[in-house]
Amino acid sequence: MRIGKIFGIDVVINLSWLFIFAFVAWSLAQVGPFRLIDLTPFQRVALGVVTALLFFASVLAHELAHSLVARARGIPIARITLFIFGGVSSLEGEPTTAPIEAWIAFVGPLTSVVLGALFFALSALFGAHTAAGTAAGYLGGVNILLGIFNLVPAYPLDGGRVLHALIWRWTNNRFRATQIAATAGRVMAIMLVTYGAFQTLYKGVGTGSGLWFVFIGWFLLQAGGAERMQAELAHSLVGLSARDIATAAPEALPADTTGDVALQRMMKSGNRALPIMLGDQLLGILTMSDFAKLGDRSPNEAYVTSLMTRMEDVRSALPSADALDVVRMLSQAGVAQIPVVDEQGMLVGFVTRESILRRLPLHKDNRGEVSRAA
Ligand SMILES: [Zn+2]
Repeated sequence: MRIGKIFGIDVVINLSWLFIFAFVAWSLAQVGPFRLIDLTPFQRVALGVVTALLFFASVLAHELAHSLVARARGIPIARITLFIFGGVSSLEGEPTTAPIEAWIAFVGPLTSVVLGALFFALSALFGAHTAAGTAAGYLGGVNILLGIFNLVPAYPLDGGRVLHALIWRWTNNRFRATQIAATAGRVMAIMLVTYGAFQTLYKGVGTGSGLWFVFIGWFLLQAGGAERMQAELAHSLVGLSARDIATAAPEALPADTTGDVALQRMMKSGNRALPIMLGDQLLGILTMSDFAKLGDRSPNEAYVTSLMTRMEDVRSALPSADALDVVRMLSQAGVAQIPVVDEQGMLVGFVTRESILRRLPLHKDNRGEVSRAA
C-alpha cells in the first residue's frame, strides 16, 4: 500500500505494519509508561496514537537516511517499505566501493541514535513525569534500541553491511567479504534462536521475549540465506554470456504439426518450450501455457502455429548478451524461459531457472552429496 512520496521517494506500507502500529498504540495506552500518569482514558489513547505515529516517523527517518545517502552516491532508490520489523530501502543497484557501502549502512543507525538522544533531551526538558516527557522518554529509548539492534553484525542488518564493507576494504575481494559476512550473520542468528529457545524453556511462553528472539533469529537466517544465494549466483555468472548458460535447443517442430503431437513431444522430452520452424525460419515458441489458447478446440484440431507465441512477441536475448542481464530479464518478465536467438534468427537454446540454478556452487555441492549417498 503506497502512502505517499517524500523527497521524491515512494513510501510503501506493508500490511504487517498496520498490525504493529495498532499493537504499539494499544500497548502504550494500556500497559505502557502512560499508565503511571494521571490521564483520562481518552487522553491516554490519544497520547498512545501520537507516540506510535512519532515512532513510525522515527523508523521512516532511519530509512530516509539510508536512501538519501545512497541517492547522493548515484544509486537510484526504488522505494521505502515499512513492515513489521521496521523498514527496507530498496536500492536499484549496488554500492561500487566499500566506503560508500559502509556509509550508506551506518547512517541509518546513526540517525536513530541521534534521534534517541534528541528525544531524551526533550524528555528532560518537559520533565519525566509529564505526559509529553514520558512520551519523549519512551521514543528516546526506542530509537536508541533501534540504532543498537541494527548495528548487530548480522547480514542483512545494517551492522552486517558495515562488517561486509570493512572486510571488502580489507581483503579487496567483494565476494569473499559476502561469504564471511554471511557466515558471521548466520552464527549470530543461530545464537539468537538458541538464546530465545532457552529463555522460553526456562521462563515459559508467557513472557514472550524468548519467542521474539527466536522469531528475529529465524528471520535473519532466511534473509541472510537469500542474500548469500544472490551474491553467489551473481559471482558465478561473472564473465559469462547468454550462450554459456543456455540449455541446448530442443528439436524444432514443423509449422504443420498439430497440438496433440506437440503435447506428446513435450511430455516425452520434458521440454516445456519448443521452437516452431518453417523451413529454416524460426516462427515462434510453443510453451505449455500456450495451450490455454485452444479454447474449445481439441489439441488435434489446432496447428501449433495458432497456439505458439510469435517471435516478434517473444522476449529473447542475443548469445553474446551478459548472463546476469538475461537472469534479471527472466525474473522481471515472469516467464519460465528466455530463448537465446542469434543475429541470423537461429535458436541457440533457452535460459531457464534450472539452467541458472545449475551454475550455483551450492547446488553443485548438493548434487555431489546426493550422488555420493546414492
Ligand atoms: Zn537500517
